[in-house]
Amino acid sequence: MKHFKHMNLIVPVLIFLCSLTLFTFSSIYSNKISYNMYTNFQKDIKEKKVDTVYLTSSPTVTVKLKNGLVYTTDNPRTTDFKENLLKNSVKVSEDDFKNSQNTLSLFILSISTLYLIISLIKVYKVPFPTKKAFAVDKLETDSINDIGVKFADIAGNEEAKESVQDIIDFLKNPEKYSLYGARMPKGVILYGEPGTGKTLLAKAIAGEANVPFYAMSGSDFVQIYVGVGASRIRQLFKKARSNGKAVIFIDEIDAIGKKRDGGKSGGSDERDQTLNALLTEMSGFKEKEGIVVIAATNRIDILDSALLRPGRFDRHIEINLPDISARKKILNLLTKNKPIKNIDFNDFAQKTAYFSGAKLENLVNEAAILACKEDSSFIEHRHLDKAFSIVLAGYEKVDRSHISLNDRKITAYHESGHALVSLKVLPSEKISKITIIPSTNGAGGYTLSIPEDKMYQNKEYILNRIRVLLGGRAAEEIIFGKAHVTTGAYNDLQKVTSSVIKLVTQYGMGASLGLLNGDALSEVNYSIPDTVINECKELVANLYEDTKNILLENKTTLESITSNLLEVETLNYEDIQNLNMN
Ligand code: ADP
Ligand code: ZN
Repeated sequence: MKHFKHMNLIVPVLIFLCSLTLFTFSSIYSNKISYNMYTNFQKDIKEKKVDTVYLTSSPTVTVKLKNGLVYTTDNPRTTDFKENLLKNSVKVSEDDFKNSQNTLSLFILSISTLYLIISLIKVYKVPFPTKKAFAVDKLETDSINDIGVKFADIAGNEEAKESVQDIIDFLKNPEKYSLYGARMPKGVILYGEPGTGKTLLAKAIAGEANVPFYAMSGSDFVQIYVGVGASRIRQLFKKARSNGKAVIFIDEIDAIGKKRDGGKSGGSDERDQTLNALLTEMSGFKEKEGIVVIAATNRIDILDSALLRPGRFDRHIEINLPDISARKKILNLLTKNKPIKNIDFNDFAQKTAYFSGAKLENLVNEAAILACKEDSSFIEHRHLDKAFSIVLAGYEKVDRSHISLNDRKITAYHESGHALVSLKVLPSEKISKITIIPSTNGAGGYTLSIPEDKMYQNKEYILNRIRVLLGGRAAEEIIFGKAHVTTGAYNDLQKVTSSVIKLVTQYGMGASLGLLNGDALSEVNYSIPDTVINECKELVANLYEDTKNILLENKTTLESITSNLLEVETLNYEDIQNLNMN
């Protein structure tokens, strides 16, 4: 009896057994009906004993007496047989007696079987493969109508906040924009390291514009059942549109929007369908509806280009790791409503290089837990100190939080090298930012300069650009020595190589091919001779010497840019101008 672990099953099981018995008996019984002579039947009719006669086309008829007895007798097959019976007030049924008996018991049996199955499902919670399992009504697209996140809840990320201002304005008055025929981006991609506040920014956009926020993750759409992802997309948009204006947020967009890898099976069909559904929905809504889709990813470079085209996700906003001043702001913000005492935020902003906002949040939380554990009335510096060790140990080697001081120094000299050479050889190009905070493209840091707008690039300009690219490696060599140069210049050297090859083989600016063009030569199967490679190598070697000389002549500026970078991690245009003056 161990199967009957629930009393609830006893009743359905008993009913089932009874009806099964009934069915069995009625089948056996109906096969064992005795035969009676026709004359006896006529006698029964006369004596008014007969209740019903079951008359079919078969050679026998079944007779049911008023006392319940049943027998069969011959079917006389006379034309007035039925009439005579009726005249003698006998009921005539044209159904087969066996059938009508069996139908009833079969009916009872099916009902009780169904009842038993339902009870079993209820008791054992067997999933019921109904439509509901595939339906998306249960989809967790909890819309949040008043999410309460505002720009004030985001510290740093100023550039990102700046570049979504118009989207907020659009969400507030989409009609205004449609009046001017202005096309707003339907989709925005926020990209950057995990925990840098992409979700937070998306929420703040909805919060500032005061529209509902619908959030889902790309991985929610990738299902085992083909078509479910696509239908979830449609459901999500339907829900959002039913309320008018909205921000739809899709985290981890790469789960559905990865570049198609050419027919590899295993869910890629499903992903394509989901992606297509998303693109269709996005082209479906009108500008004046006031819906913006915001997607987040750690890597924009792996996204399918179909997603990035105009009219889709055509605004791309990078969310960077916070630099020292942003980290201080985030720490201040995170501790605003907590009881704190004697915390030196400058110290922690300094220590937490390469921490994302989420990690800072984790740090503050650990400190709060520690303070709570020892019943301290305040979160103090020492709690944060201890939390810092705990958090760092957890992150150790997994990511960049542990970048050594030496690596930071290398990055700082490298980037200063680029910046200084740029200032000297291309003074008209504005350097808008130098940072040693890594960005998503994997570099240790980067220097951002805005090239002048011009239609043609002359030879001298191309050579100077190559000098700037070589500035990073040159600075490393000058400061740390030839034996200690690093792989940090990998990307620069790639660009240098492709520039110089183009210079010699495409633009007619070199010696070995003269004015001949390499592409045209390869069309007639002429392969590029070694002399071209040798010329390029020599050219780059000379440019590298130039670059080192420029840096050596300005070594004090190189040192001062570097020490400033190490201190504040990010220098902007004005900072750089000031340093260059001195
Ligand atoms: P992402 O979506 O980029 O992975 P989240 O938006 O989920 O990152 O950030 C996680 C948490 O980290 C936020 O809820 C917030 O507490 C904190 N955080 C991240 N960046 C910031 C920031 N710039 N200002 C304030 N808090 C931040
Ligand atoms: Zn470099």
